[in-house]
Amino acid sequence: MITLFVISAPSGSGKSTLVHEVMKRVPRLRFSVSYTTRAPRGQEQNGTDYFFIGREDFEARAEAGEFLEWAEVFGNYYGTHCSELDRAADEGVDLVLDIDVQGARQLKQKIPAAVSIFILPPSRGELEQRLRARSQDSEQVIERRLQEAAEEIRNYSNYDYVLVNREVGASAERLAAIVEAARSRRDRMEREIRPILETFNNA
Ligand code: 5GP
Repeated sequence: MITLFVISAPSGSGKSTLVHEVMKRVPRLRFSVSYTTRAPRGQEQNGTDYFFIGREDFEARAEAGEFLEWAEVFGNYYGTHCSELDRAADEGVDLVLDIDVQGARQLKQKIPAAVSIFILPPSRGELEQRLRARSQDSEQVIERRLQEAAEEIRNYSNYDYVLVNREVGASAERLAAIVEAARSRRDRMEREIRPILETFNNA
């Protein structure tokens, strides 16, 4: 049985760095590579960051039920392909999904055992500063992202955990602790517990 870790955050809250950090610290975690219709940015690689596909292709796949969840975000489609789950199960690893609030809602409905985590920036001012520091976006885009962040943040109460990202190292430690706690749940431990109990029964 694998566990899905669903992580959502407003853009600019440092989510990608955080996810990257936690994957370095915690073994047997794999990043779920989504499908998207948006164009690749910077160093992004097809098949590593996303699978980049056209709108028609995406719509056909969505129609065919290939996605575990999908949503339109900032005018582009994004979706988690069902095969990502099978691949993780085959490899015996847990899956980290960086998806938006709409996708997280769909996923929780389908897989209630998924562990959801919402990342909050320390304040609006801090988020604004981080968005400006990235300096990829125009003033207009920054303003829009701040408004969207305010909308997204309202959804925090649907998540199992909330993490305030003040400093990436400390946040990565916390996220790693959440993963470890989920892995220690009794229902996940059954296989490991059985042989231990048997040693007591045989005594
Ligand atoms: P970006 O274009 O900046 O990589 O991502 C934009 C937003 O899309 C982020 O909030 C990210 O979490 C979300 N996103 C990425 N992949 C998926 C996905 O497969 N499903 C959904 N619902 N959202 C996604």
